Amino acid sequence: MQLERILHSQGFGSRKLCRSLIRHGEVSINGAIHDFPFTEFDTDNFSFTVRGEAWQFRKQAYLILNKPANYECSHKPQHHPSIFSLLPAPLLERGVQCVGRLDEDTTGMLLLSDDGQFIHRLSSPKWKMPKVYEVTTKHPLDQTQVDTLLQGVQLLDEPAPVAALAADIISEHVLHLTLAEGKYHQVKRMLAAVSNRVEALKRIRVGSLDLPADLAEGEWRWLDADMLAAVS
Ligand code: URA
Repeated sequence: MQLERILHSQGFGSRKLCRSLIRHGEVSINGAIHDFPFTEFDTDNFSFTVRGEAWQFRKQAYLILNKPANYECSHKPQHHPSIFSLLPAPLLERGVQCVGRLDEDTTGMLLLSDDGQFIHRLSSPKWKMPKVYEVTTKHPLDQTQVDTLLQGVQLLDEPAPVAALAADIISEHVLHLTLAEGKYHQVKRMLAAVSNRVEALKRIRVGSLDLPADLAEGEWRWLDADMLAAVS
């Protein structure tokens, strides 16, 4: 693929803008500036730098972000900054979207992609992708609450009771709750249905992918093949 097209496909702006970036010596390949926009490159394992920042060609973008509290999963946030402000411009230009949403006060694992089918599949309740939340509760947890969460609770506006796939008490105020769906405020509503209250909520696992311990809040990284398989 021509260098100009490669940059365009990776979110560096219009073809004209990409051509200008290349011609102005802003693009390097293997450590050397490459200022001819129409050279053909094999996109397999193709790395390049733009204004000193390293990139690798990726046909589709799959990312994981450790969402901090007080960020909104929206392009039009109302009260807090958007999580999209944590991503570099080329990813936004590529149209990367969240796979489901987390509430503004929820932290933890958020997947993002520009692959519409991937987003649709993972968000679909039919797929039943398990999601594990670490829930810190206001009131002490007990086995009766856990049993009720596992049996199913009736939430307002839902046609049938919703049950957790798993619920494990970790300590007096910490529960690991596994859900198959992602209904609006589902964890908070389920805990309220057992007369408890969510004080803090963090998503720690999706499918068989754990939130990496070394991914700090506000940081993102590309999903590698193993990570992608863990959520596919
Ligand atoms: N359930 C909630 O209540 N909030 C979230 O952000 C995710 C699941």
